[in-house]
Amino acid sequence: MKAKKPKKGVVKNPVLDKYYSLLIRGRTECCERCGSTEMLQCSHHVSRKFLAIRWCPLNACCHCRNCHAELTFAPHDHYEWITDFIGKDAFDSLRARGIKITPYSQPERRDMLASLKAEWIWMQAQRNDGAEGRLNFLSPYEVLER
Ligand SMILES: [Zn+2]
Repeated sequence: MKAKKPKKGVVKNPVLDKYYSLLIRGRTECCERCGSTEMLQCSHHVSRKFLAIRWCPLNACCHCRNCHAELTFAPHDHYEWITDFIGKDAFDSLRARGIKITPYSQPERRDMLASLKAEWIWMQAQRNDGAEGRLNFLSPYEVLER
């Protein structure tokens, strides 16, 4: 039996993913398709395999588990929903940014994580102060461009 080859291009980023998901779900605190507040999930528009946009605030929304599953298993409906939601130009722009090869270094990932953590602390403080509605957070990619 052949040894299992490691998958190329698959990079696990569990802590970055965790804070990104908290921010996406915390941004609206409800499903952006049906309004449910139950079983909320982070739902990517363009696949997470594209690291250049994996943690981009524009590349995901909050869906309940049902909407997430329905859209995941109906790619045409998913595309239609996304392009209605963020606009076709924004979706095309995301996809174009996504195909860049982006081998982030450990220090870059550390900076991105610090950015997402800081945004999560800010978001929680806003909610604790009674903020309602959508709370947009800053992109961790911006810290790489400073
Ligand atoms: Zn829903």
